[in-house]
Amino acid sequence: MEKVFLRRQRDYDPAGVRAAVRDIIEASGVDPKGKSVFLKPSFVYPNHDPATIGVVTQPPFIGGVVQALNDLGASRVMVGEDSTLGPSRSAFYAMGIFPYIKGIATPVYFDEERHIRVDVPSPVVQGSFVVPAVWKEADLFVSLPKIKVNMFADVTLSVKNNLGFLRQKHRVRNHTDRTLHGKIADLYRVRPPDLVIADSIVAGEGQGPMLASPVELGVIAGGANGVAVDAVACRLMGVDPDSVEHLRHLRDAGIGPLSDGEIEVVGESVEDIARPFVRSSAELVGLNENIRVFEGQERCCAYGCKGMVRNSLDAWLAKPGQRKELNIIVGKGVDLPSDVDPRRTLVVGDCAAEHSGRGWYLPGCPVMPMHTFFRLLRYFGGTLPIYAKYGDYVKGYVAGYGWKAARYFKGLTGPPVPRSWIR
Ligand code: SF4
Repeated sequence: MEKVFLRRQRDYDPAGVRAAVRDIIEASGVDPKGKSVFLKPSFVYPNHDPATIGVVTQPPFIGGVVQALNDLGASRVMVGEDSTLGPSRSAFYAMGIFPYIKGIATPVYFDEERHIRVDVPSPVVQGSFVVPAVWKEADLFVSLPKIKVNMFADVTLSVKNNLGFLRQKHRVRNHTDRTLHGKIADLYRVRPPDLVIADSIVAGEGQGPMLASPVELGVIAGGANGVAVDAVACRLMGVDPDSVEHLRHLRDAGIGPLSDGEIEVVGESVEDIARPFVRSSAELVGLNENIRVFEGQERCCAYGCKGMVRNSLDAWLAKPGQRKELNIIVGKGVDLPSDVDPRRTLVVGDCAAEHSGRGWYLPGCPVMPMHTFFRLLRYFGGTLPIYAKYGDYVKGYVAGYGWKAARYFKGLTGPPVPRSWIR
């Protein structure tokens, strides 16, 4: 029987988080005394705007966890993440995390870390990954996911949180309807967390991962088995864990349980906290009267190209007064009429390659999310529709490229990840 702990915590006061997390760690039987501990929060959309409180693991929460681990005698605590926008350091500046970990934890920037290649025996989809060595080498790995729904993977919990260990190009590999969940399950097996402390004080519903809306649950979920914690977190969101394919893969592989009968919930009751979350949608048809969509009948991946477009488009649709016409061709087997104006048309993904001459073609399987985003920016114009303090990103860019320049002048050219590994 796996234990999952639900501890009441209604706000992000670091002292309250520290006390609650200390209780969870002690009750879970995980002992950090004298050990190096590696923490992986989720900075999927790095910024510290209150609108995204349901999207990213909150910095005061991370600070509280670090303090709890130090209280319990950890020899060293590291906090590692990457950025989808520029150098990894830009995510740390954009998140505003430094005041919460200064002097008590070491920031780890994945793009500056030595990487290793690891193999997963009997994979569902992908049997080899390139990951930061520090993840494998730390004595304890503690996952700090933000609980939210996700248009690509149904939910983002501790299992999905591991995707952030991959370099950008590797992250989108196998990001299709047929393969994404299997890949997530395979990556989890590289190193399951020794402990999960999930930020569910404010969770996220709706258009996750990037534009999830906040839902106050007022609880911290934790435990030593990530699959079991994810199963309970699913129930908190009104999601049946059996409906999440990557969790089923791990259950079937004996990594962790999903059923109520195999999980003991300690503390608050799931029924008292749970509520039905609004689920994410990757739908493009019917989004807006100015957007015409031509979807492939043979293939059109919600977890791939279609979702990548919706994920980027949501940011513009949220802007009032957006009326510019746009055509989108996505997927394989598109029946295209002759009146589609190529000056207003986006052709997305390798499956749509036969129509590459009918608009701006963005190749890839799937298309890279930032390619879609910046193509839409060129088309719609105006300011970037993102929550960000630009000065923070600038500081992160300067720091990240400063680090690269320093390496260069020391004669250490080339990235810590061999280029041949990121093809
Ligand atoms: S190109 Fe896009 S639609 Fe085609 S298989 Fe890849 S992700 Fe799916």
